[in-house]
Amino acid sequence: METQYDIVIVGGGPAGLTAAIYARRAGRSVLLLEKEGFGGQIASSPRVENYPGLPGISGAALSDKLFSQAEALGARLELEEVQSIQDGSLKTVTTDYGSYRCKALILATGMKRRTLGLSGEETLQGVSWCAVCDGAFYRDSDVAVCGGGNAALQDALFLSGICHSVTVIHRRDTFRGYQMLLEELRRCPNVSFRMNTTVDALLGETALTGLSLRDAVTGKVSALPVSALFEAVGQLPQRTPAETLLPLDDAGFIPSGEGCRTPVSGVFSAGDCRVKEVRQLTTACADGAVAAVAAARYCQEH
Ligand code: NAP
Repeated sequence: METQYDIVIVGGGPAGLTAAIYARRAGRSVLLLEKEGFGGQIASSPRVENYPGLPGISGAALSDKLFSQAEALGARLELEEVQSIQDGSLKTVTTDYGSYRCKALILATGMKRRTLGLSGEETLQGVSWCAVCDGAFYRDSDVAVCGGGNAALQDALFLSGICHSVTVIHRRDTFRGYQMLLEELRRCPNVSFRMNTTVDALLGETALTGLSLRDAVTGKVSALPVSALFEAVGQLPQRTPAETLLPLDDAGFIPSGEGCRTPVSGVFSAGDCRVKEVRQLTTACADGAVAAVAAARYCQEH
C-alpha cells in the first residue's frame, strides 16, 4: 500500500474533509487520518440550521455527504490515530497502523468537549456529552442539560422531543446561544430553565438519580431528580502529537495566519484547532479550502 502522499490531513471533521476535497481537486495525492469518526463533532449535531444551502440537514447526513464527496474524488480516508509527527524535507506521520510520508501536512484536529469535573462524572450511568447518541436511552424520562451556548440549546431542543421533561441549567442569567434557538426552546412545554445555577454534585450510586444544584445568587442548595445529565459546557482544543512540532497559544490552539500557514514550513492548520475568532461549521470548511490550496501550492513549489 502506498505510504507517501503529497498531503496528509490529520482530522476528519468538516475542516479536514473539505481540505481533502480541495486538495484532490488540485490534483494532489491525499491521505486523511481520523481517530474516531468521520464528520467530527458535527456528526452528533441533531440539526444544522446555519450551513448555507442545506438548512435543517442532520449533522450525520452532512458528514456522510462530505465523506462521500472526498472519497469519490480519490482521497484515501483512514480511521487511524496519529501517534507522532516528525518534520523534515518530507514529514513523517506515524499512526497506530503504520508510517506515512508527505510533503505537506494539514492539521484539522478540532476540539473536544469540556467536562464539569464532578465526582462520578466518568463512571455514573446517565452522564453524557452527546444528546443525539444517548438521548434515546432516556425516552420519557426527566433529564437535564447543563450549559448556555448553542450546543446546550440544541441538545435541549432535541431532548424535548424524546424525554418527559428537560431542565436547562445555566450558571448565568443570559444565554450565549442564538436567540432563535432560545425562542424555539421557550415554546416547548416540557422545557424549564434554572438560571444562575451550577451543578454541585451528581447523585446516585451506579446510575444518576439526581443533581445537587446551587443557586449562584442566594447560595441555596436544592436537589433535582433526573435520570440523565447532558453536559454541553463548551470545548477545549484536542491535544495531538502536533504539539511537539508547533508553538501553541496559552489555551492550546494552533497559531496560523491568513492562508492557514503555521510557523513550521509545510504545516497548515484548519478549523476549530486554529487560533481564530469564529468557530463555526462554515468557517471550518472555509479554513479547509484555504489550507488545502496553500498546501497544494507548497507541494508545487517544493
Ligand atoms: P460555548 O458557546 O463556549 O458555550 C459553553 C457554555 O457552557 C457557556 O454558556 C458557558 O457559560 C458554559 N460553561 C462553560 N464552562 C462551564 C462550567 N464549568 N460550568 C457551567 N457552565 C459552563 O460552547 P458550545 O455551545 O459547545 O459551542 C461551541 C461553538 O460551536 C460556538 O461557537 C457555538 O456557536 C458553535 N455551535 C454552533 C451551533 C449552531 O450554529 N447551531 C451549534 C452548536 C455549537 P458562560 O456562558 O457563562 O460562559
